[in-house]
Amino acid sequence: MTATGAAWRNWARTETARPIRVERPSSAGAVQRAVRAAAASGLPLKAAGAGHSFTGIAVATGVLLELDDLSGLVEVDRERRSATILAGTRLSDVSRLLSPHGLALQNLGDIDRQTIAGALSTGTHGTGIGFTGLAGRVRAVTLVTGDGTLRRISADESPELLPAVALALGALGVLVDITVECVDAFVLSAVEAREPFAETVQAAEARARVSDHFEFYWFPHTDAALTKTNTRLPAGSRRQPLPRARRWFDDDVMANGVYRAVCATGVVVPAVVPTLNRAATRLTGSRRFTDHSHRVFTTTRSVRFAEMEYGIPVSELPAVLAEIRALIDIERWRISFPLEVRFAAADDLWLSTASGRETAYVAVHRYYRDAHTEYFRAVEEVFRRHGGRPHWGKIHYLGADELRELYPRFDDFVALRNDLDPKRVFANPYLDRVLGA
Ligand SMILES: Cc1cc2nc3c(=O)[nH]c(=O)nc-3n(C[C@H](O)[C@H](O)[C@H](O)COP(=O)(O)OP(=O)(O)OC[C@H]3O[C@@H](n4cnc5c(N)ncnc54)[C@H](O)[C@@H]3O)c2cc1C
Repeated sequence: MTATGAAWRNWARTETARPIRVERPSSAGAVQRAVRAAAASGLPLKAAGAGHSFTGIAVATGVLLELDDLSGLVEVDRERRSATILAGTRLSDVSRLLSPHGLALQNLGDIDRQTIAGALSTGTHGTGIGFTGLAGRVRAVTLVTGDGTLRRISADESPELLPAVALALGALGVLVDITVECVDAFVLSAVEAREPFAETVQAAEARARVSDHFEFYWFPHTDAALTKTNTRLPAGSRRQPLPRARRWFDDDVMANGVYRAVCATGVVVPAVVPTLNRAATRLTGSRRFTDHSHRVFTTTRSVRFAEMEYGIPVSELPAVLAEIRALIDIERWRISFPLEVRFAAADDLWLSTASGRETAYVAVHRYYRDAHTEYFRAVEEVFRRHGGRPHWGKIHYLGADELRELYPRFDDFVALRNDLDPKRVFANPYLDRVLGA
């Protein structure tokens, strides 16, 4: 992400913006002043995180608030295993700052470059049918609402609003700090394997239920799935991290470097994609290792891509995957990027993709130089037929009318937005589309 004051673009290069002004507040008071000044001059204001959303959710058309100076740990309550973290803190720094206190985040997604506020605001999740997404662990927030008021929402103050503000698309205010329930630090034992796709799909729900964290990738045009099964172990357990060289080779060269070449070749010569995908699954071998949780949960992603991800009821997973596979075959698309399948527990957040139901997530990707629209639109139809809800930070084509049908508390959220941001200081074109103007 770059924000030079002149131009901003997101990680995937799918969105750009030219904010009129860029501000870098370093305190709650400075955020309040920025919001009041924007409101007074009739400019919209948007806090951006790390720019890792694929949608235009972070696009600032007026004032862009960069929160790099609002980063760090406010306090740790070891007894309650909770931590209060400033909104602009990167998830990687959260793990680093919690570690000396013997604490960790309960679960993480594929990367940890995002800010905590950005990750919460779009419903970022990892995998694990017994674990909610990150926002399910929020116990309190401090935010600045549309008129510049500083509000605390916690178990003691307006607790009924917590399930709305914990995952709020940046629509209700600028988060200043967040109190998150953590867990005792732990290590993860990882088993990664290449397995037959059909059997993996058939057994996926059962495996998700007996594993702490189960997920798999499927490369279109192949019959192989790459499975990842992570088991939680106490902090003192013996670690067997990947040797530095192996990690570099597997994660940087195989998973990214060679793959970048594969993707780039596929753009020029789409016909070779099936062969390259088969080679990719063969080259990505099995491995086992045990390491600190954040090192196992997250990897680096240096090959750029565009992504759509939907949450569906777990029971729909086999049908959804079969329909997407058939679609790719019928349309004769050549898709170099894999699908990713993950799981999460139900939560009670108003706008969470897992609100009120256990969820299977299916993500589709395209290399960023490949056109993604036709593929994503067709796959979205499949997700929609099976009751899917789109990730707020990943490409989708739904508007407020369709989303209202998917979320029982949608209108309550809009009413709260009318209350906290009546003048739509935090609006942008994406929010106009998904929540209404
Ligand atoms: C390579 C890659 C891997 C990814 N892996 C996963 C994954 O495993 N699981 C998953 O669920 N998602 C994943 N994502 C999506 C990503 O986690 C989300 O899009 C997340 O929101 C990005 O966080 P960010 O800090 O970049 O926020 P941004 O994209 O910059 O902003 C997201 C939203 O947060 C709002 N926001 C930011 N700061 C504040 C604040 N202080 N107050 C109020 N609102 C705020 C913004 O206004 C915007 O609405 C991935 C994305 C990429 C590019």
